[in-house]
Amino acid sequence: MRSVEEHQRIVAALITPRAGIRLPLAETLGLVLTADVVAPLSLPGFDNSAMDGYAVRAQDIADATAEHPVPLPVAEDIPAGRTDPLTLAPGTAHRIMTGAPVPAGATAVVPVERTDGGTETVEIRASAAAGQHIRIAGEDVTAGTTVLRAGQPVTPAALGLAAALGIAELEVAPRQRVLVMSTGTELVAAGTPLQPGQIYESNAPMLAAAVRDAGAESITAPMSTDDVAEFRAALSAHATGVDLIVTTGGVSAGAYEVVKDALAHGENSTVEFVKVAMQPGMPQGAGRVGATPIVTLPGNPVSALVSFEVFLRPALRAAMGLPNAQRPLRTATLTEALTSPSGKRQFRRGVYDADAGTVTSYGPPASHHLKWLASANCLLEIPEDVTELGAGSTVRVWDLSG
Ligand code: AMP
Ligand code: MG
Repeated sequence: MRSVEEHQRIVAALITPRAGIRLPLAETLGLVLTADVVAPLSLPGFDNSAMDGYAVRAQDIADATAEHPVPLPVAEDIPAGRTDPLTLAPGTAHRIMTGAPVPAGATAVVPVERTDGGTETVEIRASAAAGQHIRIAGEDVTAGTTVLRAGQPVTPAALGLAAALGIAELEVAPRQRVLVMSTGTELVAAGTPLQPGQIYESNAPMLAAAVRDAGAESITAPMSTDDVAEFRAALSAHATGVDLIVTTGGVSAGAYEVVKDALAHGENSTVEFVKVAMQPGMPQGAGRVGATPIVTLPGNPVSALVSFEVFLRPALRAAMGLPNAQRPLRTATLTEALTSPSGKRQFRRGVYDADAGTVTSYGPPASHHLKWLASANCLLEIPEDVTELGAGSTVRVWDLSG
């Protein structure tokens, strides 16, 4: 049997980074920059007021106090957005709003609260230090400096900085495009009444969501029955232009294992079907169809999602340069005794309590119990050589909220 780590390496090696592309700002959130961003202009772009008030020459109001205000004629009104160049004459004031350009010759802004708010003449009731409440051009960003570095994820703030600099596109590592395809003659799409023996298809919606949650792009192919010719046709119809194919079902030891039957000896396929020493998720496959990487997950829903967590999520995030490729690992105290099969890494669904530092196994270990998985917040990892764990043991936990 192949170890978990070996299969992780094989899957990771299949998924390679895409070259950086330029995308409109709004599409870059959460992606990683592949080029430094150099400021094309300075911020602020011009000296502007930090307050609503009056632009003055500081020396004209040096003696102003509440008891002895200094009256000045208001020569101009400068709202934010005024674009014509203005000069302040000595002995006058300009009414000015936050963000409006400070007129040439003004050396301070007096907040409106320190005045009578006049529009013809203003009474200034406090003196001002030179430079007071003036935001100087370039004090935030100097044109020509590097403001964001390649490798940094685009956060809302980074996106805001780029927008403030007038940048409309950023060069980022694009999302991996992942085709998700489920197989099984018993599967029916939601909205169709079930016949006896049929079930609703759940792996494709679940894995497509997991793909998006990992930061990648999902494309869902119509599900295929267990007919080999149909599966092959669906694969070639939908696999163009994707970076990775993920299938579910049809890879274990029974008859009608459509994925295995179609790809184990396909002339165009180098997929290797193996048993990985884990529970759930033992039957796995990985390789290429043509040039496109493919990872074939087992069909049981819990096996499929745990396999995605263990093999695909870390590899996809790493290929996109995203942080936290591996879920945060915690150590926690087990609240009850557990058993685990010998020779297999067991991933149980668990409820991790960060405050108490404890974890409780949640639901049976069987791989078709989706209800428990849906309300678990962690995977509880039990090593291959451990078959019994007492209450109070220390265990490793994959924090699914991280
Ligand atoms: P398989 O690996 O194809 O033998 O499937 C194993 C189990 O998972 C069977 O009980 C299938 O019915 C179930 N299963 C496979 N694919 C899906 C799917 N897409 N949605 C829900 N259940 C599935
Ligand atoms: Mg099947």
